[in-house]
Amino acid sequence: MLIKTPEALLKILLFLLAGTTSNILSLDKAIEILSEIYFQPYPEFSKEALYFRYPDFDKWQRPEGPLKIAIQIGHMIDSNPPYELRKVSRTGGVFGPLKEVEINKLIGFEVAKILEEKGYKVEILPAIVPENYYADAFISIHANSTDPKVSGFMVSTPFVDYSGKAFKLKESIIKEYQKATGINFIDEFTENMTHYYAFNWSKFKRAIHPKTPAVIIEMGNIRNSKDLLILILGYKNVALGIANGLEKFVRENY
Ligand SMILES: [Zn+2]
Repeated sequence: MLIKTPEALLKILLFLLAGTTSNILSLDKAIEILSEIYFQPYPEFSKEALYFRYPDFDKWQRPEGPLKIAIQIGHMIDSNPPYELRKVSRTGGVFGPLKEVEINKLIGFEVAKILEEKGYKVEILPAIVPENYYADAFISIHANSTDPKVSGFMVSTPFVDYSGKAFKLKESIIKEYQKATGINFIDEFTENMTHYYAFNWSKFKRAIHPKTPAVIIEMGNIRNSKDLLILILGYKNVALGIANGLEKFVRENY
């Protein structure tokens, strides 16, 4: 059970008991909802939130096993979200009949293939990540759909990085991606990137562990014809740029 204080439990019970008894939730439904609620009294990504969620954070040890690289395909398999993510906007970009998720899949699976052929352990993740997820490098793959005049890619770390390595991962991805694709780097990020739900362990159970070095990439703008052509016709190069960035990072940091 994830209710951490009596006050939180009381609040929920009051909510469940509000209204008439004829309208009360079934016990099964109530338990399902209760188990989905993660109580967090502190600001997102704060130190207080970190130690509230992970009291033994300072003694954390990497899980045993081979080095693992995680590739999240943005927006893949996103129906039936769990209760905790029901209000999070996870709709991907659209350009005519083209959906962003298709581009993300085309490139994400190719990145995995390249790294697996080199002997790395790779895990492909859908839009909703497992609880408390740890990997030695995590990248979430997306593409923008904005003003057609804008060409470029963006990369962001979580709002606060407790892995101590996310900025190195970011630099490595930018450098290799630019080299492989020739797409211009836009040195900006949005709150949708820094506070990306899969990064936000302070708000959701289904998020990365804070020790996971993570970045999110917006690979280009699918409404810009130059970017779109590179992403589709040059998808192997695009994937190679991401794979090289990930490989360089793990080689230099583990
Ligand atoms: Zn997206």
